[in-house]
Amino acid sequence: MKYDCVIIGAGLSGLAAGIRLARAGKKVCICERHAIIGGMNSYYMREGLLLETGLHAMTNFAPQSAPGSHPLPHLLHELDISYEELAPRPQKFSLISFPGVSLHFDNNFSTFKADIAKHFPRQKDGFDKLTEVLKNYKDIRIQHKFHSARKVISHFINDPLLEDMILCPLMFYGSTTEDDMDFTQFTVMFKAIYEQGLFRPAQGIKGLLDLLRNKFTSNGGELRLSTNIIKMETAECAVTGVHTATGEFIEAKSVLSSAGAPETSEMCRGAFKSEPGSLAFIEVLVIPRSEPDFSAMPTVTFFCRDRGFGYSAPQRPADLTSGVICFPDNFVFSEDDYIPPRMVRTTVLANPHHWFKLPFAEYQQAKSEITNKIINVTEEVTGLNELTSTAAMIDCFTPKTIERFTGRINRALFGSPEMGRTGQTSIKNLYLCGTDQGFLGITGSLFSGISIAELNLL
Ligand SMILES: Cc1cc2nc3c(=O)[nH]c(=O)nc-3n(C[C@H](O)[C@H](O)[C@H](O)COP(=O)(O)OP(=O)(O)OC[C@H]3O[C@@H](n4cnc5c(N)ncnc54)[C@H](O)[C@@H]3O)c2cc1C
Repeated sequence: MKYDCVIIGAGLSGLAAGIRLARAGKKVCICERHAIIGGMNSYYMREGLLLETGLHAMTNFAPQSAPGSHPLPHLLHELDISYEELAPRPQKFSLISFPGVSLHFDNNFSTFKADIAKHFPRQKDGFDKLTEVLKNYKDIRIQHKFHSARKVISHFINDPLLEDMILCPLMFYGSTTEDDMDFTQFTVMFKAIYEQGLFRPAQGIKGLLDLLRNKFTSNGGELRLSTNIIKMETAECAVTGVHTATGEFIEAKSVLSSAGAPETSEMCRGAFKSEPGSLAFIEVLVIPRSEPDFSAMPTVTFFCRDRGFGYSAPQRPADLTSGVICFPDNFVFSEDDYIPPRMVRTTVLANPHHWFKLPFAEYQQAKSEITNKIINVTEEVTGLNELTSTAAMIDCFTPKTIERFTGRINRALFGSPEMGRTGQTSIKNLYLCGTDQGFLGITGSLFSGISIAELNLL
């Protein structure tokens, strides 16, 4: 049984690539080492509740009337999913909260523009000019060199506080670079978050994953769960197939890996060089028993509690000076939607090395301590001051949890800072998609799977 393509990983990028290839008539098989699909964006059951591992919000909201050239309708078209099937539910509003000043944004760009004009009147013209430059910038470039976003922004905006405030959400949702961003990535994320906005699929991440799985298998794709690929077979600089942990050899004309660049290189005895990323995160979620009511809270708050915003791997176990707080049930839902349990999720930057070197008992203790500290920060930023005492359930994902789920070296959420946008490797029929190809987040990884499949395999 020889496949046109074996895809490693049934995360969002692997599933999207699988759908694109299967729809084009290719004989394709996705191998996923877990018993469940979704990778970083999956779900689990705890105390009878269905909980999502990684969904604050999706980016690139579009109303149903948006033209087909808009990123979301374009993506849905490629995946053969209708707007009604996804049913995007918009955010209420989000906040960028820094000491002494907060900016609001929602899915109408004029809200953000008006708030910038109100709080930073001298920067209004510069912000308008920056927006104009971004509008005309061709952001999807396969070949390009890193270009500092901070440098470009400072041509238009000369207040460092506003520069940091604009960058904070874009970095947390889509930068592998410490304290700066690649300008192309900045443009992509600016449009995706500020101009288009945030949403949730009406049926949550499970609903989205069910749709993707059905589109893949109904187009003839084969999905093998609990199939861990441990090694690739190569001959004359080409892959001939993959070996599973149970000793099976699966023959393939080409292999597309979403497991990460360094992780994939390890599967073929270090055939190409790739540095693992350094940015890792800790996330704490609190589900209250009944009170307090979250419905008036912003959908997402991007906060900084310090003068000067830093986005880098901390020396300490976690960086509590900035982060993201999300209320996943605060979207504009309709009657038959899956509305997640009322909860607050807080994400901060973490030092992965600290978490990995701890022996089990100390790890448990450190996890419980950091959970309490993150809850205290959440209370301080949101003004909700009884989160611990009213909690029915508290959960915490450390870099160790993320590695267990995804196998990512260094537990880097957004993968390697050296992005190979073409997805090509030094092995001629081995390609990479997903996080290490450079399109980040849920929408980005779906686009990554489609574009790498189209560029290299069709
Ligand atoms: C806690 C958390 C919160 C997040 N929140 C958001 C959010 O709100 N919005 C947003 O846009 N993004 C969010 N993200 C980021 C988003 O989830 C990722 O960018 C995206 O899911 C990456 O998809 P991927 O396909 O590139 O990689 P992955 O999801 O890592 O998929 C790779 C898959 O490959 C499998 N695999 C790895 N090695 C092997 C092997 N050897 N054999 C077989 N299978 C293998 C893994 O098990 C995994 O299923 C969040 C991530 C996390 C962890």
